[in-house]
Amino acid sequence: MTSGDPAHTPIWKLEPFKQAYKREAGPFAWFYRALNLKPAVTAAELREWQELLYDTCTMCGRCSMVCPMGIDIASLVGLARHAMYEAGMVPHELWAVAERAKREGSPLGATPKVLKERVEWLADEHEVEIPLDKPRAEALVTLSSVEIMKYPASMVALAKILSHAGVDRTLRSDGSEATNFGLFSGNLEWQKDVSLRVIRAAIACGAKTLVLPECGHAYGATQAPREVLRALGVELREMPQGGDANWCCGGGGGVVTLHRADEHRRRAFIIKMNQVEATGAEKLVSSCANCRLTFDDNQAHYKWDRKIESLLELVAASLY
Ligand code: SF4
Repeated sequence: MTSGDPAHTPIWKLEPFKQAYKREAGPFAWFYRALNLKPAVTAAELREWQELLYDTCTMCGRCSMVCPMGIDIASLVGLARHAMYEAGMVPHELWAVAERAKREGSPLGATPKVLKERVEWLADEHEVEIPLDKPRAEALVTLSSVEIMKYPASMVALAKILSHAGVDRTLRSDGSEATNFGLFSGNLEWQKDVSLRVIRAAIACGAKTLVLPECGHAYGATQAPREVLRALGVELREMPQGGDANWCCGGGGGVVTLHRADEHRRRAFIIKMNQVEATGAEKLVSSCANCRLTFDDNQAHYKWDRKIESLLELVAASLY
């Protein structure tokens, strides 16, 4: 809870669901119902909890890590979002992005046609090989829609690195994105659909390896980026409370799609700016395209004289 508002205490986000469990499914449900100790959850309550479950939770998992009772609150928030979806309470902006991902195969409109055009343009402009829809390949490369639509330079960087490593790979237009807004929205079917698309694409081309994008929920970016940075020979400075216990930039969990959550995101980002400044480091690097989007947005908002850099692009620039 970084806002100082007790309503944002992580466990409070689950209150209506705890109430429903005790009333409907717990071992003493009959007792709670008989004495009406736990009244039925109302639509008005769920509407009130929409902000707590979506706008003010990035599903970062920090609360789960520090909970003295060992309760995995972040996973329970994910389950609560399933219930919110079933109740028709997903915030419209997030619902629209997740539905688009289901319908078009991409939350940001990177349809097969757009992907093909981008790949042809980038391959030609940068003279790199970006294989698309090869019938057979050792590795299936997936991307985040943020990379395709906002940071295409990272696609070029990835292609350079994989070519340099001699990886036999392909992108597939029937499974190009690992970004999973179904997960964020709470719709299990959409979540499954996005994952299955990637799995089926990998099976179709016989890939033995799946390359996931620079994106927090697709690739659990923990130690490997640090190893890569060390291998580049740079002096790595960790943020205070960095690593597993770090604070989210504020854009995770689908919050980046919610304009009405701007104020919360901006407030959360102040922590991140202070953390970054405390390092005294020259460069700021992330392995997540969504973090990059959140940083760029806040950098412009706060007129902060820092620019976040992509780990992929740093590695590609160091190749000879
Ligand atoms: S998952 Fe992160 S943002 Fe959500 S309640 Fe826990 S600590 Fe807060």
